[in-house]
Amino acid sequence: MPELGDRLYKEMNIQIQEEVYSAYLYYSMAGWFDANGFPGFGSWMRRQAMEELIHAQKFFTHINERRREVELLEIKKPDNKWGSPLEIFEAAFNHELHISGKIHDLMKVAREENDFAAEMGILQWFIDEQIEEEETANEVVTKLKMIGDDKHGLYQLDKELGARAFTIDPAFKW
Ligand code: MG
Repeated sequence: MPELGDRLYKEMNIQIQEEVYSAYLYYSMAGWFDANGFPGFGSWMRRQAMEELIHAQKFFTHINERRREVELLEIKKPDNKWGSPLEIFEAAFNHELHISGKIHDLMKVAREENDFAAEMGILQWFIDEQIEEEETANEVVTKLKMIGDDKHGLYQLDKELGARAFTIDPAFKW
């Protein structure tokens, strides 16, 4: 594989920052859920945070495989003031839309640079992954809107999301 060019190198370092920030944001959301009587939502968010760290590492590995040294950037303090589970999942959905935009921008740069290794080796995977990430968050938003203020419904959904499985692809490169 050719050495990673300067433009993608810079943007991929920024994307590591974005993915680690996503983990930080989801941990912050988990904190609110834990403190407000929703252990299942909290647990779901912590697993989501772990997934974000894996996303960060995929870029980390790609930069390294392309013979450049990762440069870690500053992570800002995430929001932590929310009023309801619906507000949080709407914020999570909007955040994933933002991340999808960043991935699409990376793909544009990869194409401008004719970087096929970046396009096929990592960015195509992320384009597909983002479709799933948006769908997952939006599904919960839809359910929460249906449930409204029904305490029993909220209790059930909290239990359902708490049972989310978390597995790491055996092919994942540590
Ligand atoms: Mg991500």
